[in-house]
Amino acid sequence: MSVQELVLKQRTEILHALCSSGSAEHLERILDILLAHGDLIWEEYQDIQVLGRALYTKARQLLDLVYTKGVDTSGLFLAALNQVLPEAQRVGLSFSGCCSNLEEKKKYQGTSTQILLTQRPSLVSQLQGCIDGALKALVISGHFTSADCDDVRLPIHTQSQQARRFLDHVRSKGELAAKVVLQFIEQKQESGSQLNEDTVTPPKELFKYQKKLSSSVSAQSCFLSTYGGTSHMSLDDIYTEGQLELSHECVDVHGPLGVEDIVGTVGTVNKEADTVLVSGDAGSGKSTLLQRLHLLWARGAALQDFLLIFPFSCRRLNSEHRELSVQELLFQHCCWPDREQEEIFQFILDHPHLILFTFDGLDELKQSFSDEHRLCCPTQRAPVHILLFNLIQGSLMKGVLKVVTSRPEAVGPVLKKHLRKEVFLKGFSPSGIDYFVRMHHRDPTVAAKVLESLQTNTALLGLCHSPVLCWIVSQCYKELLGCGEGSPQTITDVYLMILQHFFQHQSSQSTLGIGWLQENLETVLHLGQLAFEGIGTSCYIFTGSDLETCGVTEKDICMGFLIQSKDMSSTHSQRYEFLHVTMQCFFSGLYIVLSNDTHRSTIPKLFEQKGMRETDLRSTCFSGCLPSTYQQEQVLEGESTAVETLNLQITATFVSGLLSQRHQSLWIHCCPSAVIEKRAKQVLRCLSKGMQKHFKSIPQPVEGEKKSMHAMPGFVWLIKCIYEMQESRIAKDAMSKLEVDHLKLTYCNIGPVECTALAYVLQHLKNPVGLQLDNNSVGDVGVEQLLPCMHICNSLYLRNNNITDEGIRKLIAKGIQCDNFKKIALFNNQLTDACTQHFSHLLKTKQDFLAIRLGNNNITAEGAKQLAEGLKFNHSLQFLGLWGNKIGDAGAEALASALESTKSLVWLSLVGNGVGSAGACALANIIKNSTSLEELWLTENCVTRTGVECLIQALEHNTHVKSIWLRNNYLSLEEVEEMAQRESRLVF
Ligand code: ADP
Repeated sequence: MSVQELVLKQRTEILHALCSSGSAEHLERILDILLAHGDLIWEEYQDIQVLGRALYTKARQLLDLVYTKGVDTSGLFLAALNQVLPEAQRVGLSFSGCCSNLEEKKKYQGTSTQILLTQRPSLVSQLQGCIDGALKALVISGHFTSADCDDVRLPIHTQSQQARRFLDHVRSKGELAAKVVLQFIEQKQESGSQLNEDTVTPPKELFKYQKKLSSSVSAQSCFLSTYGGTSHMSLDDIYTEGQLELSHECVDVHGPLGVEDIVGTVGTVNKEADTVLVSGDAGSGKSTLLQRLHLLWARGAALQDFLLIFPFSCRRLNSEHRELSVQELLFQHCCWPDREQEEIFQFILDHPHLILFTFDGLDELKQSFSDEHRLCCPTQRAPVHILLFNLIQGSLMKGVLKVVTSRPEAVGPVLKKHLRKEVFLKGFSPSGIDYFVRMHHRDPTVAAKVLESLQTNTALLGLCHSPVLCWIVSQCYKELLGCGEGSPQTITDVYLMILQHFFQHQSSQSTLGIGWLQENLETVLHLGQLAFEGIGTSCYIFTGSDLETCGVTEKDICMGFLIQSKDMSSTHSQRYEFLHVTMQCFFSGLYIVLSNDTHRSTIPKLFEQKGMRETDLRSTCFSGCLPSTYQQEQVLEGESTAVETLNLQITATFVSGLLSQRHQSLWIHCCPSAVIEKRAKQVLRCLSKGMQKHFKSIPQPVEGEKKSMHAMPGFVWLIKCIYEMQESRIAKDAMSKLEVDHLKLTYCNIGPVECTALAYVLQHLKNPVGLQLDNNSVGDVGVEQLLPCMHICNSLYLRNNNITDEGIRKLIAKGIQCDNFKKIALFNNQLTDACTQHFSHLLKTKQDFLAIRLGNNNITAEGAKQLAEGLKFNHSLQFLGLWGNKIGDAGAEALASALESTKSLVWLSLVGNGVGSAGACALANIIKNSTSLEELWLTENCVTRTGVECLIQALEHNTHVKSIWLRNNYLSLEEVEEMAQRESRLVF
């Protein structure tokens, strides 16, 4: 097929690769290359780049043009495409026959204008970061006016777009202007100064402003609130590193990420975007992480590349109802410059790379992210959410880095396309929990006791993986150490514990009596109503009059569940928020359970996550929260936004827990038992209905295939609700209707907390299943939580889950005792040679084990030798996958000797393991003797002709083997051709 036909045939794929990210960068870089080579003339270029035209339209026009220009241009186009697309986007595209001399024509010289054209691709990159200097040179030489400069510097453009715009302007000014540019670049190069490093001399007033801003940021971020207003804990004393991860696609980034990596280049997926998303569940520590970043910056201990940091809380921005410009937003909400506001703002505009914005809790913003309403003028006023969305997508303040936090479920695809990268915050690691508890309890004996009691209650230990729960547990250590048998198991238990603890803290008596809830019922109901109405209206900050409406008194506030809202602008009167959003959900749950006013439709609506405003909210207050008219339509339709759904889910989880049998004694004297029973029945009905809905979605299997269920959103949440009830009867009942062979829960945001609930419920499945948990955050703590359901798993898939050798040790110790357990997949975890002794033990002990897949871990020859020890004694293993490890020849030889006369192994993969001919020759022995092996994968190794000869010889005696894969080894084309002819089962 000619290159021209190739362009035509792949049109859809090329368009997708060029445009799906929403960024014009790839297309523009290709245009640069075509222009430089003269395959596109200037008029054609201008014709494509008409301002305001959609990206897809431009790309289609270019493809039409390239095709009509014929073979040469098509070849060059494909070569340019190959060069500019990131590897992931090239997959599936064919570039065969494309031109390969992209570089040569660049050497062509001519007039200055011509040189600007022929060297355009490199000039675009050279000019980035020194546009200001180049503009100045042209203004001095009289070729550019200030209007030209403004046009180039328009903040909607990326740095590379500014460079292109600059070159286009220069071209229109003629030969002399082009000469000035070339001289400017030459001078920069000669003086040895880095082209992309403008020397910045900030005005004096800026330093004063920086000082004021950093002392205000420091004051805002140095403490964590514990008991509202009455007690504070220094962030330095308690801060514990959370686990930061990049998306599962970034498999080549190893080692833990530090806070500075959030703003660094690691894991970047879209260089042109300015927004980094930190996502994590409620209570995973997102706000605290930002607080830490702010504090480190204010102290000069980190992020020193940024001169100014502007922190925002989306929760607080919700109560800004005025229209503001970016300048007003920065100065009024963060820090007011005492003098020279204009000069300071101009500096910010001129040096975007020195500025950082952070937006905490984007999910709590009332409006969902949209990129429809474009705004690019920093002095134009607009509603705050419009400003925010334009900042995030970069139409406003392009080049300023923005760090945004949100719960992952609330981030839609429209926002994703504007992200530079996404970093996941996964709570504390096991050693993090340890560290936190020790920091929290300065008395080492107390710390040791708390840790000991956590070790004996694995369910609670799993919960402590979430920082907010770790904090609660540490806070309530006295209750925890005193409770023996009744030690908390569920999230509801933990929150009830803190409820009691806070009341105790304020009480004059040394211990609370059994009627503690009844004694504090009024407070619970006042705060409950406030919380409930807030959840229904997405309100998280409450004014004095909101508090009044719900009867919240000074005494209620003193209990510590409410804290005063921090506000950088300090223009607002006193406002309050709950210690944490999960606390608001808990009080909301208490209200639903205990209030006389709970409507009978409330619980069903809660479980269906429908908007709860119309029937349940009688209050006309919540003035700061009620949505503006802009939003009203959406509200009346009763649709919930993503974050409302999440909060309703958390509330429903608490309602399930609070209404479980084991807590019913708490409500005596607080609410008639008939009412409680009725509500509990409602919850059971909702859970059962919810499960049925999921089971109905299971498709009938195609003949010969397994019946499989792919969890729909909400399935894990229902499981968590069932767990909160702690009644095995309910779990059994739910699972009795689930009849599948394979349960797929990939990309479901499953961490240790979810694993506890899953294991509790799934252990009641009637028949064994394959449990697929790939691409979650199970980790070692989660693995431990899963153990109770191991006996029901015939296969366990845990690819991409941050599991280490320690997790494997526990998993295998249990797995050995489980008859059904036959297959395990652990691709891309943190495994080393240390785990192989456990697999070896498994192989020796379980003579019915079928598959071990350990791809993309860190196993070397030593590990392979350990595995071989087990393999020698095993007669059942059919699949062994070690793709992407480092076992080398020595490892291959050990495995080969152990498997020499295997009668069970069907499939062996040693792809990408540094195996050479010595290894291949050893493996040839398996082929000679084995009666079972069908496929051997040796792709991407260093096997030479010698090794392949051994394999060919072995194949002469073997009819079982179907294929040996040898692509990308140390073989010449001629060798490949010749050997493929001799043995058709070799695949090159
Ligand atoms: P999110 O913003 O994800 O909902 P927060 O940052 O508000 O979570 O964390 C909730 C609570 O958990 C904090 O008030 C604090 O007590 C505790 N916490 C969270 N992260 C950390 C951390 N890194 N070190 C110490 N405590 C933390």
